[in-house]
Amino acid sequence: MLTSTLCKEIAGVPVADLVRQFGTPTFVYDAAMIRRRIADLSPFDTVRYAQKACSNLTILDLVRRQGALVDAVSAGEIRRALAAGFTAEGDPPPIVYTADIFDRESLDLCVEHGIAVNCGSPDMIDQLGRRKPGQGITLRINPGFGHGHSQKTNTGGKQAKHGIWHAQLSDCLRQAKPYAMDVVGLHMHIGSGTDLEHLSQVCGAMEQAAIAVGPSIRSISAGGGLPTVYRSTDSYVDLAAYFNLWDAVRRRLEQRFGHPVRLEIEPGRYLVAESGFLIAEIRAVKRQDDNTFYLLDAGFNNLARPILYGSYHPMAVAPADGNDARPEQDVIVGGPLCESGDIFTQEEGGFVVTRRLPKAAVGDWLVIGCTGAYGFVMGSNYNSKPLAAEALIDGGQARRIRRRQTFDDLIRGEEIPAS
Ligand SMILES: *Cc1c(COP(=O)(O)O)cnc(C)c1O
Repeated sequence: MLTSTLCKEIAGVPVADLVRQFGTPTFVYDAAMIRRRIADLSPFDTVRYAQKACSNLTILDLVRRQGALVDAVSAGEIRRALAAGFTAEGDPPPIVYTADIFDRESLDLCVEHGIAVNCGSPDMIDQLGRRKPGQGITLRINPGFGHGHSQKTNTGGKQAKHGIWHAQLSDCLRQAKPYAMDVVGLHMHIGSGTDLEHLSQVCGAMEQAAIAVGPSIRSISAGGGLPTVYRSTDSYVDLAAYFNLWDAVRRRLEQRFGHPVRLEIEPGRYLVAESGFLIAEIRAVKRQDDNTFYLLDAGFNNLARPILYGSYHPMAVAPADGNDARPEQDVIVGGPLCESGDIFTQEEGGFVVTRRLPKAAVGDWLVIGCTGAYGFVMGSNYNSKPLAAEALIDGGQARRIRRRQTFDDLIRGEEIPAS
C-alpha cells in the first residue's frame, strides 16, 4: 500500500532497483498481499478468482497454489487457466466459464474439455444442451437490482445485460429438461466495487431462487464485487458479517434440501487490487498558466480506470536522487497520449483535479498504487504503445513475469497485400 506521497521501495525492493531491472512503465505485484487477501476469504468453501481482474499466468499460478479456483469469461481466459495448471474437470470445478454468450470458440472449448458452465442467458442452455446433453449447469441470475462503484460496473437490474432475468428462472428449468441438464447451482453478481449493504440484498434473492429450483442445487455463489481500499478514508468491509449472512442462507438451504450446499465467493478486485503498483517515469514537468503538470511515460494505454470511471488511485513520487526532503505542491498527472483525457487525476465525468504531491523533476518516478485489478488487463496499444512489463515481488525478490512488448510484437499479424 502507498501510505505516503513519497515511495522509496515496494514490498522491500527499492524503486530504483525495479526501474533498473524492468524499465518503465512496469506493473509490479506484491505476492504476499495476494496471499493475504485469499486467506481473508478462507471461511468460504470456495474462493473462485475472477481472473479478468489480472490474468497474467504467474498470478493465476500463485492463486492456484493458494488453493483458489478460477472463473473464466472467454475462450482466452479458459486457455489461460489451463496454461496456468488448473485442470478442466473436478469437484468443485476448478474452472467455471461464466458469460452471457458462447462465442463459437468458447463453446467448443467447454464441450471439448468438459469445462463447467455458468449460463448467463437462456440461449446458452440450448447451445450447450445440443452439443453436450446430460451435463450439470449453473445459472447466473440477474436478481432485478444491481450496484457498482460506477454506473458502468453495475451488473444487475433491467438495464444490465448480465445474467438470466429472475422471472425467467422457471422457463430456464423447463428449457434444460429435454437435454437432461440439472441446474446444480446458482450464481449472482450484481456489480463491481459496490458496498456491503447492496451486496447483502443478494442473499435474500439467492435464497428465493434456490428454493424455486429445488434440491438439485449443490452450490451457490455470492459472485464478486467486494470493494477494496483505494483512498486512505476508505474502510475495509466487515468480511465476517458478510460471510455470516451467506452462511445463514446456505444452512437454511441445506436443511431444506437435506444435503450439503457449497458456498462460493468470486472476487477479482479484492484479491489483487492492492498488490499492484504502476511505476512510470516523469518525462516532463510543465506549467499551463497556474497549473503544474507531471507528464509520465504511462498513460491510459496502461491504466484506463481514471479515464473510464474517474477512478481515484493513490500516487507517490519516488525520487531518483534519493532526496526526499521535498515540499509538496498541487499538480495534475497525465500521460503521453494524443488525447486530452489522458489524465490520471480526473473524476467521473472527466473533470480534471489536482493532487498534492512532492516536487519532482524529469527523471523522478511516479508510483500509482492499487493498480493490480483492472490495470494491465485493460491496457491497449493505442498510439502504438507497447504493453507494459509486469513483475512479481516475492520474498524480497523481484522477477519479471511479462516482458515489455516490442515493435515486432506490435505489428505481428499485420500485412501489406502485394499489389
Ligand atoms: C467481474 C466479475 C467478478 C469480479 O468482480 P470484482 O468486482 O472484481 O470482484 C466476479 N464474477 C463475475 C461473473 C464477473 O463478471
